[in-house]
Amino acid sequence: MFAKAVAVSLLTLASASVFAAECSVTVDSTDQMSYTSKEFTVDKSCKEFTVKLTHSGNLPKNVMGHNLVISKTADMQAIATEGMSQGLDKDYLKADNAAIIAHTKMIGAPEKETEVKFDTSKLEAGGDYSFFCTFPGHISMMKGKVVVK
Ligand code: ZN
Repeated sequence: MFAKAVAVSLLTLASASVFAAECSVTVDSTDQMSYTSKEFTVDKSCKEFTVKLTHSGNLPKNVMGHNLVISKTADMQAIATEGMSQGLDKDYLKADNAAIIAHTKMIGAPEKETEVKFDTSKLEAGGDYSFFCTFPGHISMMKGKVVVK
């Protein structure tokens, strides 16, 4: 038990130093078709930024799957609409759409987390960006603002 606790705290220390400039964010998603965050900030002093998506619910992916996609706010509805016809196999996302800046895979119970790392040069400071879920119907509630500074 003791050895395990030490290993965990060493890991925590290691990730704390890697992410010293807050080049990551964790967004939780739930069985209530929601994200727990309405906004997060990407600091362009980070070369790369990591978004970790967790799913704290108990419903499986085919019922309450969630992903996290980042695009310009102007492109989000079109990406979600296009994604709907792709089916669950493709995570309800046409992943080669150039308007998609970054996306995680879609997860649902028993999967607890996934993450995506992307190059912050894809974002312009002060631009109008959003994050959202492309599971059919979820975008009405599952969306938020990505602030870029
Ligand atoms: Zn969702």
